[in-house]
Amino acid sequence: MIYLDHNATTRPAAEVLEEMTECLQQAWANPSSMHEPGQAARRVLSDARARVAQLVGCRGAELVFTSGATEANHMAVLGALAVGATTGRRRLVLSAVEHPGLLALAQRLQAEGTPVDLIPVDGDGRVSIAAASRLIGPDVALVSMMGANNETGVLMPVGELAELAHRAGALLHVDATQLLGKTAHRFDDSGADLWSVSAHKLHGPKGTGALVVRKGLECPALLSGRQERHRRGGTENLPGIVGFAAAAERAARTLAADVAGLQARQARLEAGLRAALPGVHIYGEGVARLPNTSCLRFGTLDAEPVLSRLERAGVVASSGAACTAGGTQPSHVLLAMGEGAAQAKAAIRFSLGRDTTDDEIEQTIAAARRVIAPLLQPTPASAE
Ligand code: PMP
Repeated sequence: MIYLDHNATTRPAAEVLEEMTECLQQAWANPSSMHEPGQAARRVLSDARARVAQLVGCRGAELVFTSGATEANHMAVLGALAVGATTGRRRLVLSAVEHPGLLALAQRLQAEGTPVDLIPVDGDGRVSIAAASRLIGPDVALVSMMGANNETGVLMPVGELAELAHRAGALLHVDATQLLGKTAHRFDDSGADLWSVSAHKLHGPKGTGALVVRKGLECPALLSGRQERHRRGGTENLPGIVGFAAAAERAARTLAADVAGLQARQARLEAGLRAALPGVHIYGEGVARLPNTSCLRFGTLDAEPVLSRLERAGVVASSGAACTAGGTQPSHVLLAMGEGAAQAKAAIRFSLGRDTTDDEIEQTIAAARRVIAPLLQPTPASAE
């Protein structure tokens, strides 16, 4: 199988499995226990925290480990709104192309009375700074923005948004889930106040992530309890956190080479598909994108039959986000970019991984030519 769905999730790396197994076998005590096994587990936790912080670009004390980016996003939004409420700031501003979990939270909050505004994006999927500056006023508590879109890979202008948010006295949260391990972006030079990450997007385990809370900022807990300096209750998921650390360390070690390899294969895939098939439209082609993501369509050919034929030919890709796939709704991201429903339902996302080989790219191009060309032939009826 050629797996080209790395934005949905990645295969845990060998060193991740190894360190997690060792942790489960040896550091299984509760890090809050005062006895020696507990204190040994606490040292493992503290070591893992430093290793994750190194890649994320933050202080260890700024990291709050969570069950993933969805929880981190919830903590950021609800925490920032609680902080804002103390000074009369109640409004939430977020982009129209956020992760479905975050948009669902915004919808729920709006139904409960929180004022919410969505910042539109342009045809390339980049958030409009002009619209953002109109929407970010003195009643805004939080601006929430993804660092890179999971469907298109388009990078968002985080620095400019940080400036706009801070000028208005608001906080900036960045959902950096798709940035970590695929770009050199770091929390400490981003200007953000809150920063969500998830281990399973960089060959770590699922169910582990973190929210970075800038030093000095009080972000109230979602789950009460004394762990994580009272910011996230519940016995720590130590094997998951150790797996995250192993994944982060490996990603930091090979990042530059991984990015160069991804960029070359992304370019090869896009050029190869274009040469092999007519009507290829690549989303966000003219703007800065993740080096691993190619979201494209073949004319308005529906994605579903293409994906199932590609899978039968041994290539696994996805239509839009894994979180919305399975539904029949066209991608909210592509609709927000101004695409019609037929175009949005035609979009296919190939997301490469650091282990994707040149040969796999060539095989993907060949498989696409084989399965898609017959679908693009006009039928006798439509040729009339
Ligand atoms: N945000 C973005 C941008 C994502 O791509 C994802 C994963 N699809 C999430 C949040 C959710 O992450 P998790 O699975 O760790 O909850």
